Amino acid sequence: MNLTGLTIREIHQGLSNKDFSVLELTRKYLDKIGKEDKKVNSFLTVSSDSALLQAKKTDEMIARDKNIPMLAGTVVAVKDIILAKDIRCTAGSKILENYIAPYDATCVERLKKQGVIVLGKTNLDEFAMGSSTENSAFGPTKNPHDLTRVPGGSSGGSAAAVSANFCSFALGTDTGGSVRQPASFCGIVGLNPTYGAVSRYGLISFASSLDQAGPMTKTVEDCKIVFDIISGKDELDSTSVEAGLIPQYTDFKIKDMVIGVPKEYFVEGIDPKVLELINNTIKVYQERGAKVEEISLPHQEYSIPCYYIIVPSEASANLARYDGIKYGYSKSKVQNLIDVYLESRGEGFGDEVRRRIMLGAYVLSAGYYEAYYLRAQKVRTLIKRDFDRAFEKVDVIFTPVSPTPAFKLGEKTKDPLKMYLSDILTASVKLAGLPAISVPCGKVDGLPVGLQIIGKPFEDRKIMDVAGILEEQ
Ligand code: GLN
Repeated sequence: MNLTGLTIREIHQGLSNKDFSVLELTRKYLDKIGKEDKKVNSFLTVSSDSALLQAKKTDEMIARDKNIPMLAGTVVAVKDIILAKDIRCTAGSKILENYIAPYDATCVERLKKQGVIVLGKTNLDEFAMGSSTENSAFGPTKNPHDLTRVPGGSSGGSAAAVSANFCSFALGTDTGGSVRQPASFCGIVGLNPTYGAVSRYGLISFASSLDQAGPMTKTVEDCKIVFDIISGKDELDSTSVEAGLIPQYTDFKIKDMVIGVPKEYFVEGIDPKVLELINNTIKVYQERGAKVEEISLPHQEYSIPCYYIIVPSEASANLARYDGIKYGYSKSKVQNLIDVYLESRGEGFGDEVRRRIMLGAYVLSAGYYEAYYLRAQKVRTLIKRDFDRAFEKVDVIFTPVSPTPAFKLGEKTKDPLKMYLSDILTASVKLAGLPAISVPCGKVDGLPVGLQIIGKPFEDRKIMDVAGILEEQ
């Protein structure tokens, strides 16, 4: 039996039947990582000792209890911007290279309570700023489908680890596309939950009005299982909502479903082969009875400029806490306090992070605030209203996740604008606070491609149901 390839349900069945133990399963992943991750570089920290200890404990729990939780004994890889107690958390940055997390993020804590084993922390673009995982201070992650290509980003380590069967599933975070785009590039499922559906407590803040943690899994069913555990109210995050506000799965009938296809997402600049694949996928739903309607999201063209004003603004404020004193890297041989700040930050942060801090500080400064930040907030409202209007007519919206399949390592690193355009199909969803999933729908030139399904606020379960149909095919 290929233990490392099993889905969550298969692991649950295997453990229930006593086909294997959690310890055995955990060792298999560790062996595989030991042998194969040198070329992929998906993990920044592998916490073998604590994982094996946890595995033994979960085996004992399984031997004792009759009702084994569905997730018990599964093994998670956690993006290294989400805290897991007593394990190093770098955010992909030199500035936090030796930072040990003092507590668990709520999403990690909830998984641990189910008996999930934390195997380690995965690579990412520094502070989640990027679309290729090449902005990591610890070297890029490679795409397991083609080692000359990027896995996407910023949750590239998590996506690669799931795709390479180094773990049962992973957690990522999505601020502008960072769960969905790497999921698409690596041929796995990735959910960006509605803003507020999952607690942000214990996530290292990047852009707080957009950050959300989401499951990255081998199947849609696995995604549902993980979402059901990590979602819902948390006293420690005032933006999280009561679980009751997130509708349950219903008896879902494809014949009653209207799919919106926004014309602004099917335009020049998107790889024609990707468009063809997405159109064929839409036909699959149509053949099974769904109605398809063309819609318009007229402010889509402003999503990238709007996103790249709001996000650096929030990032520059959030990253002010790394002053060389409170956390992480501190330059010691300096003359005065100002130099501690300047030199620690100057040496600790990489280029992209410094670029965003400068951009953010600029657009927030007196005189420019109204011209940039305030206007961007107004445009954000217009983008949200486009979606509100569209959802009066349709139940879900289908689009590609990314204009192209996984691109080559180094292809976009010299031109930040090119890299920013990777978010063109994923950023507006975030500005509107909506849920969206990437589900594999085929291959282009041998590389995986994901379909993006966008839903109304808190209809996370509905979009997973809709994605599930594709998996049945
Ligand atoms: N590529 C986007 C950015 O660099 C998205 C990042 C993310 O979702 N964390 O901001």
